Amino acid sequence: MKILFFNPPLYADKYYTEAEECCFGMAGKPVVPHNLLRIASTISNFRVKATFKDYAIENKTWPDVLTDLEDYNLAFTPILHGGTAHNRYLAYYEPLHHNKKVVALCYPDAIAPEVYQYLRLDYDASLRLMHQWIPRFNGNSQINYSLYPYHNTAGKVYVVQAGTGCKYNCNFCVWAGKKYQLRPVDDVINQLSHIDRVRAPRDEIFLLSSQITSDPEWLQRFVEEKTKWLPNIRFYGDIGVGEVTEAIASLLKKSGIMNATVGAEALSDGWLRKFRKPWTYDSIKRGLLALQKADVTYHLILRCGIGETQADIAESIRNLVELNNLGVKPDYVQWGKIYPYPGTDISTLEGKQEFLPELKLYVDWLKDLGWIKR
Ligand code: SF4
Repeated sequence: MKILFFNPPLYADKYYTEAEECCFGMAGKPVVPHNLLRIASTISNFRVKATFKDYAIENKTWPDVLTDLEDYNLAFTPILHGGTAHNRYLAYYEPLHHNKKVVALCYPDAIAPEVYQYLRLDYDASLRLMHQWIPRFNGNSQINYSLYPYHNTAGKVYVVQAGTGCKYNCNFCVWAGKKYQLRPVDDVINQLSHIDRVRAPRDEIFLLSSQITSDPEWLQRFVEEKTKWLPNIRFYGDIGVGEVTEAIASLLKKSGIMNATVGAEALSDGWLRKFRKPWTYDSIKRGLLALQKADVTYHLILRCGIGETQADIAESIRNLVELNNLGVKPDYVQWGKIYPYPGTDISTLEGKQEFLPELKLYVDWLKDLGWIKR
């Protein structure tokens, strides 16, 4: 059996999931389809010949994909993803529906359950496989999976892996509970310095990790080294809002982070517990106020679709208004539904995806306060 895994073409005006970043390569963002690569490399190590193409970064279109499918003459071509419930997503794959060779819209466990178990149970081993495997398709062993042009812009984005795994265990996340490990600061600095030599002025850098704030000593050393060697490099990256004290916020400011990604997910304690987020509303408030004070630009992720109640929504609106009155102002908010990925704990929860009419009120408040666009 031969399998082609691919990151499909992007339409400039159409994302195919409401999440804007996705390690399965489903979103119109420059993040490497990390888990898709992990699955492909693991499967190829088991019993099938696998290859990978990134039509998004190659600026290809669906006709190119269909021609390639003919050329590969594959037995079948699975596409791995977790967002099948979304109408836009289904429509996006319409060009593939008539191709008899293609099994689209399937889950990893539909292809090879033992492989998926392996991916879930031995994260480190599957990462090692991915690291060995990736240079085979991009031919670049030094930066492995870090050189990716930015979708839909003139510049490129260089994605630098700062770490893997996460200390926390949110029930919707594919990184949940996986051993948190940051790369040695010197490795990250060396990689940034290489990128600094080869990049064009408009190119951007994304420092990929669950959050660079989880290890204050690492962050302190990173800031010291970066200030010494690469003071002008700026980057995007994820932070853990509940970990942000004034001291951490000040380090973040010095680090050169441009627009920190803050995965708050919800603004009420009950709702946060449903996501199994490690934060409380108070810790989110403290973190956001510290970011504001240190003048760190950030955007906030808020999600729904996990059985939130009228009380959760009412409390969230009250807290939203409080934050707004305190002068909290995210650069923008990513608001969207959760799509449970098979294998994540959220996928087995009852009562998910029930959308209460009161959610509209919450969205109206977010719009009225200018947190999301009208
Ligand atoms: S804190 Fe972020 S990376 Fe960690 S498990 Fe939760 S959502 Fe995933």
